[in-house]
Amino acid sequence: MTFPPAEGPVRASNDIEIFGLGLLPASHIKEVPMSALGQKQTSAYVRVTSALPPKADIAEKSARDYGIAHMHPDHSAGLSDPASGRRYFSNAELVVHENEPPHWFDDAAMARASERQQRLYFMCAREQIKPYKDRTRLFQKGEVFPGVTAIPCHGHTPGHTSFLISSGNEQLLIWGDTVHVPEIQTARPEVCMEFDTDPDAAAVTRRRVFDMVATDRLAITGMHLHFPGFAHLVRRGSGYQLIPEAWEQTL
Ligand SMILES: [Zn+2]
Repeated sequence: MTFPPAEGPVRASNDIEIFGLGLLPASHIKEVPMSALGQKQTSAYVRVTSALPPKADIAEKSARDYGIAHMHPDHSAGLSDPASGRRYFSNAELVVHENEPPHWFDDAAMARASERQQRLYFMCAREQIKPYKDRTRLFQKGEVFPGVTAIPCHGHTPGHTSFLISSGNEQLLIWGDTVHVPEIQTARPEVCMEFDTDPDAAAVTRRRVFDMVATDRLAITGMHLHFPGFAHLVRRGSGYQLIPEAWEQTL
């Protein structure tokens, strides 16, 4: 599996799958030709992209599906225009775990949250989801796109999900917000973030994901990882350590 740096516009296609994964800088945008995944759709891409798509090169009308790890705004705020209620991806389906929309539309859960969380998480998620009301595909787990398997990783949010991309004997795990401060949380997986919906569950999930990644020697990517944004994980003492992938310049 190769990850050529994105240069220039995304090729227009009716078969583009987009993963809104977080605030990766533009230089981090990676395109994975579906042909490399052993699929027949040679014109399709899995695109690891920022939550805030660069408008000039995003193939808004061409995106068929938008798979998302969870609805926090640094992962989802590029789905819709809050001012107009317009979908940025006019022909796309929002593909999200079935636990996410009910949680963010739960008035009782919102009432228990802080004012900041209400505004930043609940209201933003509602704004982003609403325009896709009739274009949302919910999943529990398993293959959500050809060659792409959803792995529930609940705790950070009720529907937080990792995606495993398989290509022949190579695999890449997009692990969403499994970590936020990688150096600390790989060494001490029990450390949680204040905005985890269920910190205890998030810690258990993190241990499970780390064990899988280290055991299966998976390449990983996700948000909140340092440059170059791709890494492996090895066991170190009672915790783990990230081994970043070398950055290869393409001239
Ligand atoms: Zn998050």
